Amino acid sequence: MLAACWTVGVLAGWFGDRFNNSAYDMISTATQLRESSPQSVVVGIDEETLKQRGGQREIRSILAEALEAIAPAKPRAVALDVILADELLDPAGNARLEAAMRATPNLILPCEVVNGAWEDPLDRFKSLAVSLGHVQSEEDPTDGVSREIPLELVSGGQRRWALSLEAFRVANRAAIVESPDQLQVGDIAIPTFRDRSRPLLIRYLPAGTRVESALEVPQHPERLHDKVVFVGITALSMARDRRVTPSGGYVPGVVLHAHAFETLAHGKFLSPAREVYVLLAFAAFATAAGLIFWMLSGWFAYLSAAALLALAHLLPFEFFRHDIVFPYFGLILVAWLSSAGAASYQHFVVRRQLRKSESEKSRYQQAIHWAAHEMRTPLTAIQGSSELMTRYNLPDAKRGELTEMINSESKRLARIISTFLDVERLAEGQMDLKQEPLAVADLVETCMARAKPLAERKHIGMFLDNAVEGTLLGDRELLEYALYNLLTNAVKYSPPDTEIHVSSELRGGDLRLAVQDQGIGMDAKEIKNVFQKFYRTKRAEASGETGTGIGLSIVEQIVFRHGGRIEVTSTPGKGSCFTMIMKAHASAPTDAETADRRR
Ligand code: ADP
Repeated sequence: MLAACWTVGVLAGWFGDRFNNSAYDMISTATQLRESSPQSVVVGIDEETLKQRGGQREIRSILAEALEAIAPAKPRAVALDVILADELLDPAGNARLEAAMRATPNLILPCEVVNGAWEDPLDRFKSLAVSLGHVQSEEDPTDGVSREIPLELVSGGQRRWALSLEAFRVANRAAIVESPDQLQVGDIAIPTFRDRSRPLLIRYLPAGTRVESALEVPQHPERLHDKVVFVGITALSMARDRRVTPSGGYVPGVVLHAHAFETLAHGKFLSPAREVYVLLAFAAFATAAGLIFWMLSGWFAYLSAAALLALAHLLPFEFFRHDIVFPYFGLILVAWLSSAGAASYQHFVVRRQLRKSESEKSRYQQAIHWAAHEMRTPLTAIQGSSELMTRYNLPDAKRGELTEMINSESKRLARIISTFLDVERLAEGQMDLKQEPLAVADLVETCMARAKPLAERKHIGMFLDNAVEGTLLGDRELLEYALYNLLTNAVKYSPPDTEIHVSSELRGGDLRLAVQDQGIGMDAKEIKNVFQKFYRTKRAEASGETGTGIGLSIVEQIVFRHGGRIEVTSTPGKGSCFTMIMKAHASAPTDAETADRRR
C-alpha cells in the first residue's frame, strides 16, 4: 500500500505540473532574496517618452537619444531589447541611431527566432555591437508564467546566448566556458544542463529592478555609472512582450531580462532536485508514515503523523532556501496518502486481526474448559476404582470389574483428548477429514451400544426403529462423536421411564439419522440457539444435568464439514428430535470392509 502511495506521488510529481508550478510560485515569492543591490538599470521607453518624442514612428530617434544620454554615464554594458531588423523609412533616425551606437561601448543587440531562422538586427547596426543575445523567454505552457529563460538557443544550426547572459559576460569581460552541466563566466558557475537547452530559473528581485524613464536619464546620468543598462519599451501601449511573473505581476520583456541578469549577477542559482533524491525522499516519507503507525498507536501515532506532514510541507521551503527546487505536490501527496493509508490500515486491518485473535484466544480457553470438564468424569471413575482396589481386599470378580472400568474409562479419556484436538483443528479448518466409506448401521450400532448403559441407569429405553443398509463417506471417529453426543443429550434431557427412538432412512439420496426423545424439549427460540457455543436452555439448567453447552456446536461443525446439516424439531415438555442429514454414498461397502470395521 505504501508502495502504491509512493507511485501516486511520483506520478503526481511528473504530471502535476500545474500544482507544482503553483507551489513553486508560492515558495519562490515567500523566499525571495532579501538582499537587493541591483547591478542593472532598465532605461524604459515609457508612455511619456513616446508622447513627447512623436510616438512609435520615431522609435529609432528615441533609441538614439537614449543611447546618447546613456553613453556619457559610462555604464559597463548596454543591452538593447528593441528589435532592429526592419528597414524603416526613417533615414535620419537610422543615421542618428548608428552614430549613437558607434559612441556606445559594450553594446549588445537583440535577435529572435522568426519562422525557424534567426532574425538579426540590420547589418548597419549589427556591425556596431560587440555581440547579439536572444530575447526569447520561456513561458510555461500550462499557465503562461515566465519562470525561466533558455540561456542557449539554437536555430538553423546557429547558436545564440540569452541577452542577459551576453550582457553579464560582456560586463565581466569574460568568456563563456561550457560543460554539459554548467556554464562558467568569470568566477561564476551557472548550473544548467546542455541537453535541456540550458534553462535558468529566474530569481525575481522582490523590489523589482530599477527602471528609469528614457526622458530622465540626462538629469541623473550618475545612476547608470558602472551599471549594466537594459534599454527597452516599457510603455503599456507598445510593450507587446509582457510577461507574467510567479508572484502574479506583469513585467515588460526588458525588465524580465534585467531580472535574469540579476540572477546571474547574484550567483545564487536554483536547480531542480535530482530525480533520484526526489524518489528517495518520497520513499523515506512513505516508510516513515508506515513506521509511525506500525510502532506507535493512539495519539502518539497521530501526533507523529502530523509532525511528518508538517515536515513535508516545510521541507520544500527549506530546500528552496538552499537553492533546490523540490516537487512540492508529489511530496505532499506521498506524505498525506501514506499517512492516511497507514492510519486506516492500522485502524481497520490490524484492529480486526487483534479482535479476531482475541476471540480465538477466548474460544480456545473455553474449549480447554470443556475438555477439562469432560475429562473429570472418567478421571473420577479411574481414581475411585483404583482407590477401592488398593484400600480393600476385593474379590476377584469385583477386581476384574474395576480393572475393566479403569481400562474403558482411560480409553474414553484418550478419546476425549483426541476429539478435543480434532475439534480444534476442525474449527481452524486445518483438519483434513478422512473420507472413508462407512456403514450407517454399523455407526448407529456402535454409538447406541456405548450410550445404552447411561440410558439404563435412568431407566430409559433405547430403541432402533428403522435401520437402512446405506453407507456414508466420512470420518468415522468424528461422526461417532456426533451421533453419540445426540444420544447422550437425549438421555441427559429426558426424565426416567421414557423412550428414545433411533432411526435411519434414505430419502432422495440423503441419509437421515434421527434421535427422538420424550424429554424436556425446547421452544422455537431455544432451538435457534442450541448450536451456539456455551448456550444452555433454562430447562436444561433446571434439570440438574451438568453440561457446558459446547457439544452441539461441535456436532454441527462435524456434520457441516461433511457437507450435511442438522434438523431439530421439539415441543417443550414433550420431547425433541435431532436429525443428521447427509449425502448417502453410492456404493455399499464390501463385506470385507464391514467385517474389518466390526473387528
Ligand atoms: P450440554 O449438553 O453440555 O449443555 P450441548 O451443546 O450438547 O451442551 O447442548 C446445548 C443445549 O441444548 C443443552 O444445554 C440443552 O439446553 C439443549 N439440548 C440439547 N439436546 C437436547 C435434548 N435432546 N432435549 C432438550 N434440550 C436439549
